[in-house]
Amino acid sequence: MTPTEALNHYFGYNTFKVGQKQIIDLVLAQQNTLALLPTGGGKSLCYQIPALLAPDLTLVISPLISLMKDQVDSLQQNGIKAAYLNSSQDLATTNAVLAKARNHELKLLYIAPERLENQFFLELLQTLRVSLVAVDEAHCISQWGHDFRPSYLKLPELLQNLTTSPTVIALTATATPQVAHDIKQLLHIPLENEVKTSFARPNLSFKLVKGSDFEHYLLTYLQQNPHDSGIIYASTRKKVEQLGALLTKMGIKAGIYHAGLSEEVRKQKQEDFLYDRTPVMVATNAFGMGIDKSNVRFVIHAQVPGSLEAYYQEAGRAGRDGLESEAILFYKDADLQIQRFFIDNSSADEAHREHDYQKLQALTRYANTEECLQRFLVQYFGQDCAACGHCTNCTDTREKQDITKEAQMILSCVIRVRSNFGKKIVAQVLAGSKAKRILELEFDQLSTYGIMRQKTKEIETTIDFLTASGYLTTSSGQFPTLHVTTKGYDVLRGNASVYARSEKVTKKEQTVTDSG
Ligand code: ADP
Repeated sequence: MTPTEALNHYFGYNTFKVGQKQIIDLVLAQQNTLALLPTGGGKSLCYQIPALLAPDLTLVISPLISLMKDQVDSLQQNGIKAAYLNSSQDLATTNAVLAKARNHELKLLYIAPERLENQFFLELLQTLRVSLVAVDEAHCISQWGHDFRPSYLKLPELLQNLTTSPTVIALTATATPQVAHDIKQLLHIPLENEVKTSFARPNLSFKLVKGSDFEHYLLTYLQQNPHDSGIIYASTRKKVEQLGALLTKMGIKAGIYHAGLSEEVRKQKQEDFLYDRTPVMVATNAFGMGIDKSNVRFVIHAQVPGSLEAYYQEAGRAGRDGLESEAILFYKDADLQIQRFFIDNSSADEAHREHDYQKLQALTRYANTEECLQRFLVQYFGQDCAACGHCTNCTDTREKQDITKEAQMILSCVIRVRSNFGKKIVAQVLAGSKAKRILELEFDQLSTYGIMRQKTKEIETTIDFLTASGYLTTSSGQFPTLHVTTKGYDVLRGNASVYARSEKVTKKEQTVTDSG
């Protein structure tokens, strides 16, 4: 049977999605392969078809028990012999499944990564004849990824000890170039064996909403889109409960989901959402991996998540059916504190914390860029695409203003404070603040003290914009300090100008406001 025949025979599809055939061909040629496809790109078939065509068993490492069960059920419905092993099963079940695997009665065996931590189990697996190992959500193997799972680090050992030298396919929808590099190194995938299709999601409109009243915004949005299904993400369980209660009070059919609920309740909430009994879901990031609900029309983040990887993955749950959908980020500087709190209280070592702070800063840049938001995200993942034409920035009709002078004032102030301070202090100096700290540091003696007194309100926004646009950069760490980049020095020397839409009003409106 050819791959195309298998596609048709087992899955009822006639053509491959972009990238699928190339990946399948590589795997069938026994080449270890990294597949980078966006959410909804059709990753599962990339290992399921080779599994069907391979002589022996395929092991699939998949991080979520619920997802595993769904996948196995639907494979069985298509007449494919598949089973799964996770830690909720007793020894008798485990043995029965392994016996089937040994007797060639299975084509695919799904395994929860946690099982690999059991040495006895690992040795049992080594008695199987394995043609292929598929590593789903492969970014979980990288310590620099946003969802590191230590049990994935057992994979190299498993691969080394399997006697049949199986081919490896790693799959993910979320890998920065660094994470992709880690996956390849740890799973012995040659650098060139990476197939990646565009990460752009043309049917998603990325929106940024800043600083207004979130609850008011949300209620208005839901009133305007009463028939749509969507997910609202918040950072804490408390916030999820609070928003859930608000929506219910307003008569909106909404469910909540977070890791503090019992497994039974979570399952119920998930099903109510999947079957549109409660079309709106308010959740923490515990909700979502592997949720294959195709008609999610919006994903709204009430608060910033910890990284752009997490953001893109969560936002990407909208519009899996290819229809127009919205990904909205409600951004407030203050909400960054919650993420900082998570980082400070994590068990990660110093280097990882630094790294997590850097990731958080990428979110600030995203929130302050004036570039196409889709393009910004795709570039973050090491690719490029044309401006989408429908995100908040592409549709922003405000006039661009020349802010070179303001930029120069800010940049020189950063230099005057010897690149030792962050946004707040620099803004206070420029605004001519009499705060105790400023006076103690004798910053009221600096030549840049008070030079932006008339524009106090806009200073921090402009600093954010200059950082997002690469004129300034911030150190990582809990208290990021500002530094002028080469691009920034060009502006200081008068060799380049800076334009921005950061003035919230056009010139014409400004006159009206000024006189009123
Ligand atoms: P991912 O894991 O990349 O998010 P899935 O493997 O869940 O994506 O596939 C997304 C959807 O696309 C599924 O409903 C799947 O059945 C469908 N699909 C996959 N490959 C094809 C194809 N070649 N033709 C049509 N539909 C496909």
